[in-house]
Amino acid sequence: MRVAIIGAGPGGLSCAHELERHGVKPDIFEQRPRTGDIISHVGAVLQLMNRPIKDPVEEIKESCHISIKPLNLLKKVIMHASRVSGSVSGNLGYLFERGQAEKSVESQLLAQIKTPVQYNIRADYAVLSKEYDYVVVATGAYDIAKILGCWEDIFKTWLMGATVLGSFDRNTMNMWLNTEYAGNGYAYLAPFNHRSASLVLVVQNADRKNIAHYWKKFWQVENFTYEVTALWDLEHVSGFVYPHQVGNILFVGNAGGFLEALLGFALFGAVRSGVFAARSIVEGRNYEDFLAHLKENIMASIKLRKVLNRFTNRDYDHLIALLTTPGIKQFVYNTNLDVIKYLARII
Ligand SMILES: Cc1cc2nc3c(=O)[nH]c(=O)nc-3n(C[C@H](O)[C@H](O)[C@H](O)COP(=O)(O)OP(=O)(O)OC[C@H]3O[C@@H](n4cnc5c(N)ncnc54)[C@H](O)[C@@H]3O)c2cc1C
Repeated sequence: MRVAIIGAGPGGLSCAHELERHGVKPDIFEQRPRTGDIISHVGAVLQLMNRPIKDPVEEIKESCHISIKPLNLLKKVIMHASRVSGSVSGNLGYLFERGQAEKSVESQLLAQIKTPVQYNIRADYAVLSKEYDYVVVATGAYDIAKILGCWEDIFKTWLMGATVLGSFDRNTMNMWLNTEYAGNGYAYLAPFNHRSASLVLVVQNADRKNIAHYWKKFWQVENFTYEVTALWDLEHVSGFVYPHQVGNILFVGNAGGFLEALLGFALFGAVRSGVFAARSIVEGRNYEDFLAHLKENIMASIKLRKVLNRFTNRDYDHLIALLTTPGIKQFVYNTNLDVIKYLARII
């Protein structure tokens, strides 16, 4: 069987790993000269977002046979709205290094596959779909799903981020919700180690022309004095995709709409959808049948995103006060109740 994978990000590499486990050697095309974004940053996977799965890292190990070592455990999240701040603690999830470094998720995944990636090739899905039995689109982008008529934009954002130097707790992430500089997006600070961290601003409906303005405002409002060592910006769009397979073309990761719309988390969904696409190919079963849990999570995040899009700073103050109230925070963060899905159902 001939399978082409377009994109050697977490989705494409996980798909390749699962195909190899079943004796299929795919052709993997990557437009970059190596695996992973040149931007080195820290990403989070929150336990709360993936319930009822208790431990995303263990789940990937047990059910996908892929091990990814986190950079740090996430033990504390400090949330800041315009007038209220509060924190939650516990086993909240993991922090991962992303990019091209040795410890990055991408490098770890690459080390687990045998098939060499064919670098510096910008693959054309239309050509490949005629040459191969299956084409897995793991491009991290919406363009192919849009062309094939199965993509709907849900949350369009522009990100500006930096590596900053300062003094950080390696197990603590800070988050900011403030419409003054993020619209209904948000910002976060996630540490690489005690000396450096990723500071990222996610602004709803911004673009390359105006993102610097919001970034400046963010620094002014929050009074940051960090030293910046790298600065970058990029577009990030989450969308709703259906169907996830068109003819012999399967969509995984961000390209398949598995970038959840609430906070833009996608790593867990990229790995799992990559593995599920491979299983659907080798077992000859309907891809959609594998996606039930992922789709349920995505739908819940879309519903909550639509509510958050109407929030004012006063609403964010109330939300953070509520989420960090003793009793309620234990209930939300230290149980395994699928709070996101329950809330979405109520809404
Ligand atoms: C700054 C930032 C912070 C993030 N933070 C988090 C986080 O905290 N938690 C989280 O879960 N997620 C986070 N994400 C989401 C992130 O997109 C996913 O974690 C994950 O990278 C999605 O994997 P993917 O394989 O779908 O796409 P990608 O990682 O984008 O990989 C796609 C690959 O396809 C290649 N490609 C594209 N088109 C072609 C082509 N035509 N031919 C050949 N190659 C091609 C690209 O070069 C790229 O290497 C973040 C994203 C960004 C940008």
